[in-house]
Amino acid sequence: MYGKMKDFLANELKSIEEAGLFKKERVITSPQGAEISINTGQEVLNFCANNYLGLSNHPRLVAAAKRSLDSHGFGMSSVRFICGTQDIHKALEQKIADFFGTEDTILYAACFDANGGVFEPLFVAEDAIISDSLNHASIIDGVRLSKAQRFRYENANMEDLEQKLKEASATARFKIIVTDGVFSMDGNVAPMDKINELAKKYDALIMVDECHSAGVVGKTGRGVTELFNIRGEVDIITGTLGKAFGGGIGGFTTGRKEIIELLRQRSRPYLFSNSLIPAAVEAGIEMFNMMTETNELQDKLHWNTNYFMEKMKAAGFDIKPSKSAICAVMLYDAKLSQVMAEKLLAEGIYVIGFYYPVVGKGLARIRVQLSAAHDKTHLDKAIAAFTKVGKELGVIK
Ligand SMILES: *Cc1c(COP(=O)(O)O)cnc(C)c1O
Repeated sequence: MYGKMKDFLANELKSIEEAGLFKKERVITSPQGAEISINTGQEVLNFCANNYLGLSNHPRLVAAAKRSLDSHGFGMSSVRFICGTQDIHKALEQKIADFFGTEDTILYAACFDANGGVFEPLFVAEDAIISDSLNHASIIDGVRLSKAQRFRYENANMEDLEQKLKEASATARFKIIVTDGVFSMDGNVAPMDKINELAKKYDALIMVDECHSAGVVGKTGRGVTELFNIRGEVDIITGTLGKAFGGGIGGFTTGRKEIIELLRQRSRPYLFSNSLIPAAVEAGIEMFNMMTETNELQDKLHWNTNYFMEKMKAAGFDIKPSKSAICAVMLYDAKLSQVMAEKLLAEGIYVIGFYYPVVGKGLARIRVQLSAAHDKTHLDKAIAAFTKVGKELGVIK
């Protein structure tokens, strides 16, 4: 029976390959970190992980995860509302709420699930969801699952957002503006101050996905509400434990308590999917303990980011302005982005070139992600390699 489909899929795969869009995975043989080994035997410096705070292999998180295996076991074998809630799940939810200054938190297996499960229970056909055009795929999918009216505004364009709010106002019962905190391809931060003003003017709620901003932006890493001094004014925040916050697994929605309570009653990825494993939860608790003890990691990340961007600009590279730990080195040409990434790997620098359709046509780039795990010597090595390869390829003079 499979025969016809097999041929179809083989063709499909071939066309992906011919278009140069086939994703090949490089294989890492060490823990995640600034210095990693890959299966070619090469040791390289990693500049493409979401390991913003360098916690992916932090001894305190590893120890916490190990401890939890003895105290709370390996698996939960249950969803939360049957027999999948342990004391540590409640403790982590409280830690997240304390960190963001919100009323309550609900955990998910991943932020993909948090975003997938947030719209459908809260917004129906009478409501309007007004979403940034560059929002993450999980937001797009989540919005599709609800019956609400959809409006899409151009990335971070406040005139367009206002226009869409006006259009929505005519008919909508509830309106919500939805945005990523930091957009992952350019590294730009959503203009939350202006979004907040417009939300007030047009009586709309606000939801921010803090996956690339939490832990990273704001003096103490509390995300965009800290950066724009609007703590307590965002109604719904979603985020992940898979990036800055330890790099493991887990997602959350945090915000107004009635919203969180309703999600516990009706959010499908929460109701119909297994609870987070204790090791992820205990490591999460330890991570938030670390976050409240010191800002050392944020300070280092901010220093590293500024240093890298300034040196790259000085070397002549075209760098997108960014307040996050994402540095887009603009090359514009798709092929060039791939050749340059390969040459950088040969120099021991692991980065990825992105091109259409992941970014706009003619906007190919190498995305560099800085980390508190990087030391100045790592940064200098990367800058030297970029400069060498950039000159070879005629990207800089
Ligand atoms: C990574 C990411 C997600 C998905 O998070 P996971 O916990 O890995 O599922 C959702 N939204 C944004 C903006 C992201 O960058």
